[in-house]
Amino acid sequence: MARQFETIGIVGAGQMGAGIAHVCALAGYAVVLYDISSDRTEAGLKRVNGTLDRQLGSDKITSAQKAEALSRITASTDVASLGTADLVIEAVTEDETVKRKVYAQVCPVLKPEAILATNTSSISITRLASATDRPERFLGIHFMNPVPVMKLVELVRGIATDDPTFDAAKAFSARLDKVTTVSEDFPAFIVNRILMPMINEAIYTLYEGVGSVESIDTAMKLGANHPMGPLQLADFIGLDTCLSIMQVLHDGLSDSKYRPCPLLVKYVEAGWIGRKAGRGFYDYRGETPVPTR
Ligand code: NAD
Repeated sequence: MARQFETIGIVGAGQMGAGIAHVCALAGYAVVLYDISSDRTEAGLKRVNGTLDRQLGSDKITSAQKAEALSRITASTDVASLGTADLVIEAVTEDETVKRKVYAQVCPVLKPEAILATNTSSISITRLASATDRPERFLGIHFMNPVPVMKLVELVRGIATDDPTFDAAKAFSARLDKVTTVSEDFPAFIVNRILMPMINEAIYTLYEGVGSVESIDTAMKLGANHPMGPLQLADFIGLDTCLSIMQVLHDGLSDSKYRPCPLLVKYVEAGWIGRKAGRGFYDYRGETPVPTR
């Protein structure tokens, strides 16, 4: 039987960290939600409260379940608090240097048997594992955004990941009521290897003046039956994350077809990185989103 966890540590209380905290707490795990400042952890807890409210509003959970879930989450800005966790999921910014620094801080406080996972969208699991003290107990557990809604979890083994670690991650994902797929450790795995070049191409379509923000999103929603347009989706994911993933694809596969669109670079340089910044391909600061081009 696969190893069972009691406490889940989450590093990074951003959109993904908060979503992972939501589903873990609802599934009955004790959760330690760690970030660099109390502003960030408070924003994360507020996000969890909001997503639980949404589920309450649609009768997916009861108010007792919401209260219990919130009571299971402890927010922390002290890395030592991760010492109680059986599984730690790193969900910090999609930047290898940042992730490596996080592992250097987190590994010394972990229980020897604790499993460390990354929610990276694209970076090599084997390379990240080599920056930890436990490559055999390290793997990719890649959740989709928004975590409480999306059914899929991509599991990615590094070269050293052992079977008990992989089996425990699979059992953990099942307890969260997620469906798992297994991806080999190649840049951006399966979902983002396919999704991100499509989003990048939508940005080229805008850059080259083939269509406006509105026409590109409408075209893909009504013409390809996508629930969200690609530019709306890019804003939702975060343009900084989209650019990082394209860079990983471009560097890792050395093929010019993955060249990040210069317009994507420009938006990131402007700090217009999507919904989380209030502005991206749409401006979210008013009542309804307004295209920025
Ligand atoms: P985000 O910008 O919303 O959150 C990142 C969080 O990491 C921030 O709260 C930040 O304070 C924190 N952080 C940064 N450095 C830290 C450090 N040294 N110690 C502790 N916390 C630190 O980003 P996100 O969208 O939640 O993405 C997080 C990860 O999840 C990335 O690896 C991303 O590729 C992956 N991911 C994102 C999506 C998506 O749609 N946004 C989907 C799947 C996976």
